[in-house]
Amino acid sequence: MSILVTGGAGYIGSHTCVQLLNAGYDVIVVDNLINSCEESLTRVKELTGKDLKFYMTSLLDSRNIEAIFANESIDAVIHFAGLKAVGESVYQPLEYYHNNITGTLVLLDAMRKSSCRNIVFSSSATVYGEPEFVPITEKCPLKPPTNPYGRTKAMLEQILTDLHTSDPAWNIMLLRYFNPIGAHESGRIGEDPRGIPNNLLPYITQVAVGRLISLGVFGNDYDTPDGTCIRDYIHVVDLANGHLKALDRMMTDSPAVRVYNLGTGTGYSVLDVISAFEKANGLKINYVIKDRRPGDIPVCYADPSKARDELGWTAERNIEDMCRDAWNWQKNNPEGYGDR
Ligand code: NAD
Ligand code: UDP
Repeated sequence: MSILVTGGAGYIGSHTCVQLLNAGYDVIVVDNLINSCEESLTRVKELTGKDLKFYMTSLLDSRNIEAIFANESIDAVIHFAGLKAVGESVYQPLEYYHNNITGTLVLLDAMRKSSCRNIVFSSSATVYGEPEFVPITEKCPLKPPTNPYGRTKAMLEQILTDLHTSDPAWNIMLLRYFNPIGAHESGRIGEDPRGIPNNLLPYITQVAVGRLISLGVFGNDYDTPDGTCIRDYIHVVDLANGHLKALDRMMTDSPAVRVYNLGTGTGYSVLDVISAFEKANGLKINYVIKDRRPGDIPVCYADPSKARDELGWTAERNIEDMCRDAWNWQKNNPEGYGDR
């Protein structure tokens, strides 16, 4: 079976390509490398001993995307490609809406023309906003996201749902990720943010490797046991495996729109993560308490039982595995993939 992976050179995409190749799928990657580099795909091939096809193009280039669907026989698409920096999206809304929304519309149109109607979409827990209850089930009411990035996810979920309504042959998986961290256990692929990281784990690993001096903990006066925010961190390899389970289900069941939370079901505070990282790796992380970061919600963690019951998927790796693998990647690749 042949799977087109958009954004396959990126963080979650590259880990998913490894799992797909190891499971015997043929993989075709489309990526314009706006937030990644081809070295990740070289390493995916090296790790698996298998080849994949790579088209370096933007989803916005409809002629290229249609040509790919015309030349290849594609059974399903896993759609990771998109811009994802929350803060940047506030200052560049047009770029975010154009890239994420128009890019997806071009992809869906090319799929429709080639009669490929199976798609797994990267959504996010951000669609729950400040959740009405935790642990968050898929029935938790959706709230308007607080930034353009989040709005692209909510809008794309709606667009995909409308598409299924218009043509019930569309088979759609909406996967709502919680907080992916960690790296492949080999230390050969991992998260490689440009510039100063926005996210907690890459910030911690860059402090540990000496690229940054100290971590700012954004607020310790939340209504949580230690005052810092709580999130559901999930190992990126477990997340990647969730996509394979979603594919299995999608390709063997009748077309529908299906929604799943992909998280572990356990919440950890920022201070818990720092302690887990220190314990797993025998290191000390310098940190200082700073003001709250605008837009952060206090507590967010999943009820992942629907994915367990319907997809047969559960996260297997714990917080120490995540911290160990994140550090293994960073210490072996202090500059990430290097120049890009
Ligand atoms: P990433 O930036 O590492 O990967 C995205 C990839 O898409 C990059 O390789 C980038 O070059 C590519 N891309 C972007 N726009 C493109 C375009 N127009 N045409 C072709 N390629 C394009 O991000 P990631 O962390 O791997 O995230 C993958 C997906 O998961 C994204 O849609 C993201 O919004 C979503 N997601 C991520 C997180 C997270 O915390 N990492 C959480 C929830 C959802
Ligand atoms: N965080 C922090 N310092 C940082 C980055 C993040 O204290 O430099 C906190 C942030 O306030 C949140 C948690 O770590 O409570 C996870 O943040 P991240 O940006 O990784 O993910 P989010 O859940 O916000 O998408």
